[in-house]
Amino acid sequence: MSTSFRMSTVQPGGLCCVHDCSRRLGLRTKTVVAEDVRAAERAEVAVPLCRLCAAPLIRTFVDLGASPLANSYLEPAQLTDGEMFYPLHVRVCEQCLLVQLPEFASPGEIFSDYAYFSSYSDSWVEHARSYTSLVADRFGLDGSSQVVEVASNDGYLLQFFQARGVQTLGVEPAANVAAAAEERGIRTVVDFFGERLAARLLDGGSAADLIVGNNVLAHVPDAHDFVEGLHRLLKPDGVITMEFPHLLRLIEERQFDTIYHEHFSYFSLLSAERLFAAHELTVFDVEELSTHGGSLRVYAAHAQGPHTATASVAEIHAKEREAGLDELATYLRFGETARAAKRELLTFLVDAKRSGKKIAAYGAAAKGVTLLNFCGVGTDFIDYVVDRSPHKQGRFLPGVRLPIFAPEHVMETEPDVLLILPWNLADEIAEQMAFVRSWGCELVVPIPEVAVVG
Ligand SMILES: [Zn+2]
Repeated sequence: MSTSFRMSTVQPGGLCCVHDCSRRLGLRTKTVVAEDVRAAERAEVAVPLCRLCAAPLIRTFVDLGASPLANSYLEPAQLTDGEMFYPLHVRVCEQCLLVQLPEFASPGEIFSDYAYFSSYSDSWVEHARSYTSLVADRFGLDGSSQVVEVASNDGYLLQFFQARGVQTLGVEPAANVAAAAEERGIRTVVDFFGERLAARLLDGGSAADLIVGNNVLAHVPDAHDFVEGLHRLLKPDGVITMEFPHLLRLIEERQFDTIYHEHFSYFSLLSAERLFAAHELTVFDVEELSTHGGSLRVYAAHAQGPHTATASVAEIHAKEREAGLDELATYLRFGETARAAKRELLTFLVDAKRSGKKIAAYGAAAKGVTLLNFCGVGTDFIDYVVDRSPHKQGRFLPGVRLPIFAPEHVMETEPDVLLILPWNLADEIAEQMAFVRSWGCELVVPIPEVAVVG
């Protein structure tokens, strides 16, 4: 058999070679022979299809092995049970260059009872407040305007529009989180957003002057259905703003630990524009933000709308081209980048243990679950992890099963190294935990490289 790429019959939702998993999970697949499918070389296997252009996904961006769902913290009674692990094998489409994770866990599984309330983060609420005043002034939003926020969480953002007298509507799939929004008087529909819901909202008279989506675009498995919903719900001269982590920063700063099953797509400006263009939406402005390790905020509108492109769009295009994001080869190098980061962390941990040091971690965050599972680091290296969230304390980190304690536990045990897993908040955490230096403990971040903080 030839080693070159060959496609055979299309089998939507077809079978994979060993398990019936693709049918069970409703994956869109084709049966192909691909050079890049290691496990089944020279055999016919089902390969997932690009969610943007439907080409077979035969190229690897990074394969982080298998990992449990990042927010499936274990109760003590579950420690005697098995755990579900799903592949974290991220592909890049060689046709459109969208970096993506095929859907193995459904959004229903991940988001229906979500433990994350945006209002608990002071810095995120402040981010929402300053965004609200920026866009309300820029686009002249007032009492006659309708703002819809997709993934509106507990109303942390819409409360600021409401205070200005703007009409608001939230869409939030996690019922427990939506209930918190309703309690503060933010009208919220409990549902996933897409074309079907957009039609329903239009019937209800909620055509939008502004649609906001922060950290939701990457979380949507059916990106076309989602963006078509935006297109339908948006008034002819309305504006969409979407924030998402910038793939450029993920690649340049080795942020492979921001990959987990909740994040289905990893966007550059180039790939986000391709997705929007497929639904006659155009990006007319973009801002770089420092949130989540480096994000983009894009402003989009109907292609025939009144908005003209700003210079920032051309500037980010130039940055992305300079970093090679318009070339497949750039993406194919990232796997080795992640493996190098893993070797550096393991070297640091092995050296620390050899010299008799006690190591603890700070922050039972999703990115820590990816990092520690990929690196195979459990209680053999790290005694425990501390976290401020009472929802997590007393439970265990998925997969590697580190016990989670309140931050005070650090004072009782006096570790020599405190590894900060949410490295994007390193400065804030180093300040809160500065007291550990009194017994000579080092605060260390693993990403972008292993480094002592401060
Ligand atoms: Zn594609």
